[in-house]
Amino acid sequence: MAIAVRTLDEGAWVNVNNTRIVGVSNVWKLSDHAICDCEVAFFVVEVFTDVGVDGRWVEARAGGQCIGCGEHGTTEWLQVGKMGADCFRPVEVEGIHVPK
Ligand SMILES: [Zn+2]
Repeated sequence: MAIAVRTLDEGAWVNVNNTRIVGVSNVWKLSDHAICDCEVAFFVVEVFTDVGVDGRWVEARAGGQCIGCGEHGTTEWLQVGKMGADCFRPVEVEGIHVPK
């Protein structure tokens, strides 16, 4: 099944097959990241800068801020959802680095 992915509202949403699956203001708990020096960054998503598809996975890069230290930054590619047999499902973003 083809996956059509794009951002909406100037990066406020990741849109997959005409459904908004992930929005800004989410807090991602990132354990493997380069945003700041925090071992685990609680990262408030402010904008989605890039979206892409890798097989069944939808990936995104996001700009935002670590709550812990206030540092701003942009994440690496993170998996935000997966196309299942019947429909698309968002996943918990875990900060697993997705190599590109
Ligand atoms: Zn931090």
